[in-house]
Amino acid sequence: NGPADEAADDLTLLAERHLVQPWPVSGSIGAEARGRLDAGEGIYVTDASGRRLIDGPAGMWCVNAGHRNRELAEVMASQAMELSYNSPWYTTNAPSVILSARLAEHAPDGVDHVFYTTGGSSAVETALRFMQFANNVKGRPEKKLIVSRQGGYHGSTYLSASLNGRPRDHDWMDSASDLVVKLSCPDPFRRPDGMSVEAFCDFLVEEFRQVIEEKGADRIGAFIAEPVMASGGVIVPPPGYLRRMQDLCRRNDILFIADEVVTAFGRLGHVFASKEVFGIEPDMITFAKGVTSGYFPLGGVMIAGRLFEELRRSNHSEAMFAHGLTYSSHPVGCAVALKNLDILEGGLLAHARAVSDHFQQSLKALEELPLVGEVRGLGLMACVECVADRASKNPLTLDLEVGKRIDRHCQELGLLVRPLIHMCVMSPPLTISLEQIDDMVSILRRGI
Ligand code: PLP
Repeated sequence: NGPADEAADDLTLLAERHLVQPWPVSGSIGAEARGRLDAGEGIYVTDASGRRLIDGPAGMWCVNAGHRNRELAEVMASQAMELSYNSPWYTTNAPSVILSARLAEHAPDGVDHVFYTTGGSSAVETALRFMQFANNVKGRPEKKLIVSRQGGYHGSTYLSASLNGRPRDHDWMDSASDLVVKLSCPDPFRRPDGMSVEAFCDFLVEEFRQVIEEKGADRIGAFIAEPVMASGGVIVPPPGYLRRMQDLCRRNDILFIADEVVTAFGRLGHVFASKEVFGIEPDMITFAKGVTSGYFPLGGVMIAGRLFEELRRSNHSEAMFAHGLTYSSHPVGCAVALKNLDILEGGLLAHARAVSDHFQQSLKALEELPLVGEVRGLGLMACVECVADRASKNPLTLDLEVGKRIDRHCQELGLLVRPLIHMCVMSPPLTISLEQIDDMVSILRRGI
């Protein structure tokens, strides 16, 4: 053991003693060291043993411009030297103002205001608190229920986590369940036997209609949906589903919140996917992750200006939206986001669109493997779902979760995957080339 090995061992020990990482089980909480990464470059990361791996999930669906991007690093440093912080309560800064105007250009017409947060959970929390506030001001305090979906993921703060519909996330956790109604997951792969995708879509829309009828439109404040459910296993809803859900929202004065924390900033080939990909015009769009390609923790909510006008015209012009974060509109985060937007507009969006067919088709070919039940996806996000057998579609279970086992094999071969129980999620940096896609899929094939 040389000094470098000792330092590495020390870090493992220190992590076990002092670091608490997300989603720990109580048997390991506060005493667990996960595999450490030391460096990144483009689509690759280097682990503590010096092994180079393709970053299959782009960190956590976020390193869209790739690792070690000099432009992003430099703008961060220069903004920190210029103005490192200002209080968003009393002052503003140029990067946040310019970024707001540029984001408004990409959002659906009229969705032209931005409230910045520190990430996705706080963006969702902000959107929901704004809905609550607006309905209080408008004199309809009963209109607060939030409709979300089974399989969805919206965050880890109390209210945002209460919306989550992934089965295991609530087993041991409290939630504001009295505020939330959950609809079925719009997963065509798991639609009832014998039902066409069109009929499944009708069923999902009818389910929402019935919930509105049962609970009363005057009690439902918002419907929130990821256009493509990400952590739930890259669920692409049936064609027309989002549009029809939006129509129901419009008819019943329910705010439609598109949670684009994953789908925005190029993952589906556009800055925002709502309008460009799905033809919907939400009232609010939450974003985070790819907005800075993960270089700085920043998120936000795009809000339709119409909603502010309604408040200005209300009888309560003194009512205060008592909501703000110390790091709202952070100048360094917004400067990075501006540069990231330059990179996206300057060719990365076009590149993502150009390689996505090859990405999807190459992964789709993994359906030849007997363990694989379905490969699905859109743009540069995809999921490989392993099943016990194709007829039952029951998730494949092994002593170790299948996703983790595949990840372990893939890491030995040079690829990091995002294991989700019996699924593997792939969402690489958007800079990935056609050849790199081939490498990635070939390793994944061997890993499986
Ligand atoms: N919304 C969606 C769709 C997400 O995928 C996530 C995180 O993965 C969040 C919200 C929460 O974002 P954050 O982890 O930045 O708080």
